[in-house]
Amino acid sequence: MNIKHLSLLVLGLFLITSCNEDKKSEDKPTDTKELASNNVDEFGDIKILNYEIPGWENLTIKEQQLLYYLTQAGLSGRDIMWAQNYRHNLEIRDALETIYTTYDGDKETEDWKNFETYLKRVWFSNGIHHHYSNDKMIPDFSAGYLKELLANTDAKLEGEAFEVLFNDKDSKKVNLSKDADIVKESAINFYGPDVTTADVEAFYGAMNVNKEQPIELGLNTKLVKVNGKLVEQVYKSGGLYGEAIDEIINWLEKAKGVAENEQQAKTIGLLIEYYKTGSLDTWDEYAISWVNTTEGNIDWINGFIEVYNDPKGYKGSYETIVQMKDFDMSKKMSVLSNEAQWFEDNSPLQPEHKKKKVTGVSYNTVIVAGEAGDASPSTPIGVNLPNNNWIRTKHGSKSVSLGNIINAYNNAGGSGRLEEFANDSLEIAIEKQYGENADKLHTALHEVVGHASGQINPGVGTPKETLKSYKSTIEEGRADLFGLYYLMDPKIQELGLTDDYKKTGMAAYDGYIRNGLLTQLVRLNVGDDVEEAHMRNRQWVSAWVFEKAQESGAVVIEKRDGKTYYDIKDYDKMRALFGELLKETQRITSEGDYEAAKNLVEDYGVTVNREIHQEVLDRNAQFKSKAYSGFVNPVLVPEMDGDGNITSIKVTQPKGFKEQMLEYSKNYGFLKGMK
Ligand SMILES: [Zn+2]
Repeated sequence: MNIKHLSLLVLGLFLITSCNEDKKSEDKPTDTKELASNNVDEFGDIKILNYEIPGWENLTIKEQQLLYYLTQAGLSGRDIMWAQNYRHNLEIRDALETIYTTYDGDKETEDWKNFETYLKRVWFSNGIHHHYSNDKMIPDFSAGYLKELLANTDAKLEGEAFEVLFNDKDSKKVNLSKDADIVKESAINFYGPDVTTADVEAFYGAMNVNKEQPIELGLNTKLVKVNGKLVEQVYKSGGLYGEAIDEIINWLEKAKGVAENEQQAKTIGLLIEYYKTGSLDTWDEYAISWVNTTEGNIDWINGFIEVYNDPKGYKGSYETIVQMKDFDMSKKMSVLSNEAQWFEDNSPLQPEHKKKKVTGVSYNTVIVAGEAGDASPSTPIGVNLPNNNWIRTKHGSKSVSLGNIINAYNNAGGSGRLEEFANDSLEIAIEKQYGENADKLHTALHEVVGHASGQINPGVGTPKETLKSYKSTIEEGRADLFGLYYLMDPKIQELGLTDDYKKTGMAAYDGYIRNGLLTQLVRLNVGDDVEEAHMRNRQWVSAWVFEKAQESGAVVIEKRDGKTYYDIKDYDKMRALFGELLKETQRITSEGDYEAAKNLVEDYGVTVNREIHQEVLDRNAQFKSKAYSGFVNPVLVPEMDGDGNITSIKVTQPKGFKEQMLEYSKNYGFLKGMK
């Protein structure tokens, strides 16, 4: 399952996040004076938070060094993500930053403020396409104003790179619409501009791969046409993005020198070799070694990992997350992992779709020390890797929940939206008491047992081949459903994961339906369909279960003062329906039933009821919160002795979002001007 796993979390009431999704948190309806203390900046539809690294001071200097070197390696590849996202991103960023730092004209005008906001939005998205909707962001200033700024500074932006800011070209980073040539009509820079979907299918379809142990074909290349012939440009030292990759390698060498144990050093060594050669066999070797690197207190993700940004699902986006163990939480979560087989055996799946042996599932809560690329500023809240299916089956996988990131979200939250959208005071009370734990458990169940569960029938291809563009949303829905089914099972109480499984289930079911059918709609503009994979899965899961539950009266829809509420009357029936849909979703996956996947998603997950949508937007208008949140990273400041040895590393917070973005561009801008 090539899925990045971050799971679900409902922050307070609201947010359910899955996989590599950034998360939305719920704000107090306050003015800016009362912003939570970890709130760093706000602009557009974005809120920037910071996060702490609890436990840093308890680490040895060697452990601190390792974390420092790994974060430096990660940041060194920051520009790769910009270049991957769109071919003009780096030159656009350079021009905008030059203007921003050198323009000495009037900065009190509306135009300048709009310019600043636009630049911040571009920073946040690692390019000119919205990080979540994938739509090109249109500036609120004119082409004429930008020309004036360019004329009054040394910044340069010409031709297509200038025009694209204001015209309708390259309007979608990833275009998955049914009628599009999804490769040609996506602006993402994984393919040359003249490469078509048919080209990609023919090129990779013709490749001879080991069927038992396939490499992640095309993961670290750009596919382009040279004189009409398709060729791959490999991301590696001396290859595409080589200037940044060499910097990554330098820092990884230092990290290897302070590794906690031999296995860890070997794994870092394989990553270095992979960056030097671009060999996907080495990447697999690395992934296997990484899965088996479980002894240290420090771990990392680094490479071209998630394929969500590729309409065809081949190309990996550059990403890094550097982490240390959260010893306390890890202990709790390992309980679930130890019981993975029990969950599989007792699930409602058809017997032939159950895994006989669920392998190597681990779940850890970790403390993040730094992120870059695809994981920053918009971050996942959990990750499950590696993505290569045969490695997962044979060697297992590592699954982590990013504890301090989740905490930072929670600290920025409040209960205003819960009170607006929940049906009654009992629902609010149960959410307040059990919601947070229910969210944590849902995340854990989604990752540890959900994605690990189920098997594909012999002779049936991978979901990418069979379910095509519905693969991601079906897989996310399947994992969500697995979690939902068990959130009201006495087993979780028996395992000591809650003191009341019924109320935990109630909080989870209320929250899921409320979000899937109401509150998540605040992320859409009037008239839009649901397109993002996780939003789709939350809607089709909620809408399907609601439809069936309504027939039997297990859920009723309440209308009061023109407001819509969902009132669950029979939680056991809801649970049975989640189980039924889980079984069906697994059947679709196991049999590769494309038609059924398409019908489920298109019938329940795409269309939005315009009236309800408008109502939700109206009700939400009282909360001045932002739709999306992301993070600045703590700054790790090494202190040296006279011989240049690091004697200690201090953790500080950056002055602000713009300061950190400018600093990153200055210190890690290794691909300046690259297309
Ligand atoms: Zn997931």
